[in-house]
Amino acid sequence: MNIDVELIEKVVKKVLNDVETGSCESEYGYGIFDTMDEAIEASAKAQKEYMNHSMADRQRYVEGIREVVCTKENLEYMSKLAVEESGMGAYEYKVIKNRLAAVKSPGVEDLTTEALSGDDGLTLVEYCPFGVIGAIAPTTNPTETVICNSIAMLAGGNTVVFSPHPRSKGVSIWLIKKLNAKLEELGAPRNLIVTVKEPSIENTNIMMNHPKVRMLVATGGPGIVKAVMSTGKKAIGAGAGNPPVVVDETADIEKAAKDIVNGCSFDNNLPCIAEKEVIAVDQIADYLIFNMKNNGAYEVKDPEIIEKMVDLVTKDRKKPAVNFVGKSAQYILDKVGIKVGPEVKCIIMEAPKDHPFVQIELMMPILPIVRVPNVDEAIDFAVEVEHGNRHTAMMHSKNVDKLTKMAKEIETTIFVKNGPSYAGIGVGGMGYTTFTIAGPTGEGLTSAKSFCRKRRCVLQDGLHIR
Ligand code: NAD
Repeated sequence: MNIDVELIEKVVKKVLNDVETGSCESEYGYGIFDTMDEAIEASAKAQKEYMNHSMADRQRYVEGIREVVCTKENLEYMSKLAVEESGMGAYEYKVIKNRLAAVKSPGVEDLTTEALSGDDGLTLVEYCPFGVIGAIAPTTNPTETVICNSIAMLAGGNTVVFSPHPRSKGVSIWLIKKLNAKLEELGAPRNLIVTVKEPSIENTNIMMNHPKVRMLVATGGPGIVKAVMSTGKKAIGAGAGNPPVVVDETADIEKAAKDIVNGCSFDNNLPCIAEKEVIAVDQIADYLIFNMKNNGAYEVKDPEIIEKMVDLVTKDRKKPAVNFVGKSAQYILDKVGIKVGPEVKCIIMEAPKDHPFVQIELMMPILPIVRVPNVDEAIDFAVEVEHGNRHTAMMHSKNVDKLTKMAKEIETTIFVKNGPSYAGIGVGGMGYTTFTIAGPTGEGLTSAKSFCRKRRCVLQDGLHIR
């Protein structure tokens, strides 16, 4: 019998190494763990190892994430699964959003170093990792959030423990496994991105309170943002919005109408930045509505049908009914007995200021239009109906003074002028993208540096070369 000593030696060496590092190949779950404690411990171990990888390595891993997401087969699969599993949004838009998150989320180039040099030497201020980050993702952008947060957090030298929404756990787990497989292929430590098999509120609470989780990032509604901010840890809150769009008499009305319909119907109005109510100056309101109808809006005028719709798509006129969030205009209209084709992108109606459709962050393509006598009243009401979220607002106007006035008064993280809301996250507008827009805690559109600590490194006397 021929014994291949070399092969046996290789196998023994690998087994011993696996035992030593606790990473048996057959048991590697590509970042998916039974318990939150196990996930966090693995993440902490991975982060220590990750600290020895170079900046060039980090960027290679970022490119790896981009590649996994942009592979046609993966992109199509995750976009389809996200819609099927959550019951929200539309496939074509998910494809755009996932690709956008992969391509336009900045990598290590975001970590710019400050340097001070002079007679006393050289001081550097660098963006350094926090360590293990706990990131909570919404059901409205499940994969988009995993993609942009993974890129930014890993670029910053961190590892990340995700707490996906239970309603989108399948697609989140699928994506996390794919990303870890690619990262391993590129030589990264295992478990840079982890989660649990059964995401739940209980598991999120374990994560929020675990001592090895150094930073918390909540992308979701007010409840979870408040929860992370109450932990005593460094927390980033990316919370709810109710973005108003103001149109005044100086605007290019045809363009405004088209932009508003396109922005509001993007992924069936799921994005937190999407137009949620229009405030139009009386002088141009009719012409705006006429043009919106020419661009795919369906106007409902019958008060009875509007009332029926309120009963159907809201919970006690206070919150959106979850089973209608992210549904298409065609679907919603069908439920109130109106048959239209898929060319109808959103439903519009005139509404008073206190109407539930105006006041609630609906996250479905129903767009109320509030008529006001002049632009100053439009701006005042936009500020009011944004409810102090300071998230996103739009304005269509050629009047620089009024554009400036609204920008100052509404204080939103994103203010888009003369464009659709998505121009604010880098689609047809300048700038990078993210699906974690941190208004409440002030980081704004998050990127790698948002997830880093600033550390000062001082050398006395030396390396000053002037
Ligand atoms: P959600 O608040 O219901 O859930 C968000 C996440 O938090 C989920 O993973 C959920 O499981 C978890 N969660 C919620 N309450 C919790 C609690 N008490 N304890 C532990 N975990 C909890 O939001 P959603 O419906 O998934 O997403 C829509 C909301 O998110 C909207 O309000 C939208 O504006 C907001 N959002 C904001 C941004 C942003 O960047 N600012 C981006 C996307 C979504």
